[in-house]
This record gives sequence, C-alpha cells and structure tokens, in this order.
Amino acid sequence: MAEQRPESIQPRRAIAAMPEYHPPLAGRNALRLDFNENTHAPSPRVREALGKLTLESFTVYPERAPVEAVVAQHLQLQPEQVLLTNAVDEAIHIVCFTFLEEGDEVLFAVPSFFMYDVNAVAMGAVVKRVQMDETLEFPFERLLAGITPKTKLVILCSPNNPTGTVISRQQIHAVAKAAAHAVVMVDEAYFHFHGETVMDDLRADAAADAPRNMIVARTFSKAYGLANLRVGLIAGPAELVQHMRKASSPYNVNGVALRAVEACVGDTEYLDWYVGQIRTGRARIEKALDHMRVPRWPSHANFVLMHIGPKHKDLVAAARARGVLLRDRSSDPGLAGCVRITIGVEDQIDTAIAVLRESLAAIGWTPAEVDAPEAGPKEEREYE
Ligand SMILES: *Cc1c(COP(=O)(O)O)cnc(C)c1O
Repeated sequence: MAEQRPESIQPRRAIAAMPEYHPPLAGRNALRLDFNENTHAPSPRVREALGKLTLESFTVYPERAPVEAVVAQHLQLQPEQVLLTNAVDEAIHIVCFTFLEEGDEVLFAVPSFFMYDVNAVAMGAVVKRVQMDETLEFPFERLLAGITPKTKLVILCSPNNPTGTVISRQQIHAVAKAAAHAVVMVDEAYFHFHGETVMDDLRADAAADAPRNMIVARTFSKAYGLANLRVGLIAGPAELVQHMRKASSPYNVNGVALRAVEACVGDTEYLDWYVGQIRTGRARIEKALDHMRVPRWPSHANFVLMHIGPKHKDLVAAARARGVLLRDRSSDPGLAGCVRITIGVEDQIDTAIAVLRESLAAIGWTPAEVDAPEAGPKEEREYE
C-alpha cells in the first residue's frame, strides 16, 4: 500500500488560490482603537437577558426564526426578508456560496473589506476591483463601467472600511439598475454612525421604482457592541433571502447571541448614547489631527484614516508602547503610509489624542514627510 502523505492531498483550486489573512489579534490588552469594534460595552439589557439564561438552555439547539421575526419588525420588514448570520463575515460567505458559479464576476471598489476577496475567490469567481483615486471617494463612473453581462454580484460598502467614505442612495440605486441581472449587496456595517440607509427600499411600501435586486448586510459587532457573540444579518426581497436561507446552516447563530440580539435590538436609548459619543469623538479626533497637521480623510464611520507616510509602522509601535492600538492600513491598495484609528467614548478620546500627540513627537514626525516615497517590500495583506 502506498504511503499516505497529507501534502499530496490538494484543496479545491479556488481555495489553493485564496489569499491568507492574518488579523493582528495577538496581545490586544490595551485601548482597542484598531478593529472598529465598540470599545465600551453593549446595552445593559444584554447582561440582564444573559443573566436569565438557565444552564439547561445551553443544551438546546438554537432557534433562529423567532428572533428573525423580532429583528424584521424592528427593521419594518417581513420575517421572510431577514436571515440572521454568524456576523457579516458569514453573511458574505453565504451570499457568495448561494449566488456565485465559477467564472461569475464579482465587482467592488478598493480599498475595502478584505473578506469580499476571500469569499469570492474561494467560490472560483473572477474578482474585479475598481481602485479609488487619492480622494478615496466611491469611484461611481468607473464601477458602472465595470458591469458586464457576467457580473453576478456587486458589493457596495457604505460607509466604507477603511476609508470612511460613503455612497449616496442615488448612486446605489443607479448601480442596482445598471446591474439588474446581478445581486447588489450593500454592506451597512457602519450604518449607525452615518444614519443613511437603503434598508427602507426593501419594505413593502417602498417606491415602485426601488431596485428589486438589492440586499443589505448589517452587523451587531459595531454600534451594538456584540463582536464577541458573532451575529449579523442579511435582509432583502423574500425571494433572494429564501435562496440564502437554504444555503445556510440552521444553527449558524448560537442561542446566547440570539438572546442578546432580542434584548438589545430595540434599545434606542443606548444606541443614541453610543452613536452620540462616537460622533462627538470623531469631530474631536478630526480637529486634533488637523491641528497636528496630519492629513486625513473625512469619515462617516467610527474610525478615521490618516496619512502618516513612511513612518506608519513607527507610529503604530509608539502608540502601542503607550497603551493604544492603532491599525496600519499601509498594505491596502492605494493606502501606502496610512494608519486608521477607531473612535471610542469620551475618556478614550482624551487618551487617544494625548497618545497621538506624544507618539508623533516621539518618532519625530513632520507633515513634510507624508509625500516621501516609501522603500521596502509590500507586506502581506491583513484583514479587518
Ligand atoms: C466590521 C465589518 C463588518 C462586520 O463584521 P462581523 O463579521 O459582523 O463582525 C462587515 N463589513 C465591514 C466593512 C466591516 O468593517
């Protein structure tokens, strides 16, 4: 009998071709301004709900449908229009798994969320990335020009991570009309910090000309503060959601997460408070950066992208040494020398501004070096 060797067993070609991702998660015992999570706590209703869980409840397979009905009602949608997922990471996976045949084209603007690449490539799809220019605005005309008869999925991220820039409702509609033969997924992970949404277009009372090929993803990881429980949703026309429900595991969201979502989805008092903290903090950080003459892009999300130049790594290291985690985005397409900072709550903003100021001084940063060319090899891509 031949010797068994694991290295002789190959994965599917698409998986072999997939880029690896390494979120820099190790040692995050510091102020977490690196991953865009809520940096405070979820609604107090979550503790109350989880405190009531019995030990026996852990023995039962989770039931997703009743909580989907609660979430649908909150969104003013029908229950058939909502699929809860193991956060938006899984939502992206389910969308790709449901709709993409090998060779189908997936279209999105970059720099954006790396999981779009990972999941589309894993299905053997052809990924078409439209590079943003230095304004980091959504490249509307060029994305429209990228739509072909083979386009099966268009992903629109608004506000976009890691740029903080947005896509107008008018532009989203125009893309959905131009790609009427494709699924158009709008990733609204940062919706609460911006306030504009296309979720209303999915309602029964939406305008007659609202696109019918649009689906919307939302997460409970950001404003809601449940990143550790892994829960998100995908909403859309019942016909499209039905296909995705079929493709998803029936127990993809655990019962602890379901209880938490049920308890906090309608806590507008908490959400208003947290979003208010972020909006105020964002304005403070933007003003402080302007004062320190650090170039940055206007943000509609809970983070700000700044342009540091060749000393991007030094800044991240200097801030880490002072107890604040920042995120180096230099290896994103078009973002050489860029660093992202997540917006926290009030006292965290005080710390962040002080540490940014000290760190920039410690590395001897000056605005003049921002446009200096960068030496050295490109790093491996990381994902959010
Ligand atoms: C953080 C983020 C998500 C949400 O991720 P989860 O898997 O729900 O935690 C989705 N899309 C973008 C663009 C993000 O930045």
